[in-house]
Amino acid sequence: MSSPKNTVLDIQSLVRKNILNMKPYASARDEFKGEAEVSLDANENPYPTPFNRYPDPLQWDVKEKLAALKGVMPQQIFLGNGSDEGIDLIIRAFCEPHQDSILITEPTYGMYSVCADVNAVNVQRVLLTPETFDLDLDAVVNKIDASTKVMFLCSPNNPTGNLLSRERVETMLNQFAGIVVIDEAYIDFANSKSFALELSRYPNLIVLQTFSKAWGLAGLRLGMCFASEAIINVLNKIKYPYNVNIQTQTLALTALDNVAQKEAWVNAIVSDRATLVNALLELPLVEHVYPSDANFVLAKVRDAHNTYKYLMNKGIIVRDRSRVALCDGCLRITVGTPQENKQLIDALKTL
Ligand SMILES: *Cc1c(COP(=O)(O)O)cnc(C)c1O
Repeated sequence: MSSPKNTVLDIQSLVRKNILNMKPYASARDEFKGEAEVSLDANENPYPTPFNRYPDPLQWDVKEKLAALKGVMPQQIFLGNGSDEGIDLIIRAFCEPHQDSILITEPTYGMYSVCADVNAVNVQRVLLTPETFDLDLDAVVNKIDASTKVMFLCSPNNPTGNLLSRERVETMLNQFAGIVVIDEAYIDFANSKSFALELSRYPNLIVLQTFSKAWGLAGLRLGMCFASEAIINVLNKIKYPYNVNIQTQTLALTALDNVAQKEAWVNAIVSDRATLVNALLELPLVEHVYPSDANFVLAKVRDAHNTYKYLMNKGIIVRDRSRVALCDGCLRITVGTPQENKQLIDALKTL
């Protein structure tokens, strides 16, 4: 494992050769950027509707607002159709099919391995530490080989809910000579600073965040990547030209003008999470509730699969994670409204 800190990490040397050498699609919007009086360059319908024009391919208005909020530069942001687009593009940019690998730490979010499978990229799997669900540095280091190009770390982790130890993540950022992706889909619910503030220290870092959780915009499909300008340029080179539509860009700007609403939701959910955990712990069928830095909890229950089915029959859907590595007997429960949480607890009381 050579250190990217010894040499200046050369992102270009990590990018797949065909992507390094290809010429990206140049859209009409790429070639002319000013305010035009007459636009006859993109074969659009000239009659005005809210959507007759193509959107800004690089979403600069959204990125400028977001940059100010996140403490990064607009050129250090990539926006995609959910963070899932970012995950897919990162794998496609850096991993040669049938040759390179991504490394994931299980149990974790399922999309990393799905995107790798779609792209014929090998998946190296390392377990988190049992019960504490933290990075097992020795196991990760032992698994890394010359094929390992991208490591996905999810913090707070799905489905376990905990932050990974910052020190261990930093060790990886310092020592792994490939790309380290930190998926912070749940960072708003955690009492921890985003790694997006560390971009200048780590040229190999990509931070993922999303509008799908804290912002209440899962249906909009908008995900963010924060990384060095060099990495962002590679993702921009291979994305679909108009990957974020006008409606999504407009609604994202509206949401970003109302950060207080997002913060109020986060505060309510974090407080309701504590109430939910206490109520769960009072139930005899609940054996353990793992500490959560997210908007869900992982609970170990007696007879998980039947509990899951019982709740489903009552119209209450939770996630059965009981057959996932290290999550034996566990259900993943999203923190709902106080009323929804009470319905769950009442249902479990009568099981
Ligand atoms: C929910 C979730 C996402 C969000 O994905 P989107 O495509 O942005 O909706 C990303 N990562 C993790 C770990 C998640 O749980």
